[in-house]
Amino acid sequence: MRAWLQRFMSGRYGSDAFGNFLCVVSLICLVLGLFVGIFYYIGLALLIYTYFRMLSRNVSKRYAENQMFLQKSAGVRAKFARFKQRFALRKTYRYFSCPRCKQQIRVPKGRGRISITCPKCGTQFIKKT
Ligand SMILES: [Zn+2]
Repeated sequence: MRAWLQRFMSGRYGSDAFGNFLCVVSLICLVLGLFVGIFYYIGLALLIYTYFRMLSRNVSKRYAENQMFLQKSAGVRAKFARFKQRFALRKTYRYFSCPRCKQQIRVPKGRGRISITCPKCGTQFIKKT
């Protein structure tokens, strides 16, 4: 069975970041489809497209699609990564944004009222940590 699968998948594209994203979106659509009919067909179409990409032999085209996806989603993914890091450090650090330039500043938690100097524009402001 495994050998058969390996033979079947050889030369085919397989999964990538774009494929995983499509897979998640199609599953969300299929769930929404339980309530709103149209989403079921969108989800089904996306799922078929996901499988089409995985089984495709046109590797260079699929690779280009993935690169485009990575490029377009870079901003969102960076934002999400920052949010994740913030959440992981929420017990040891507090985050403030500078009142003048909106620069995000990370300060250690539990120091009471402290004066924070923005590293970007030099504005000082007082916050409780
Ligand atoms: Zn500033």
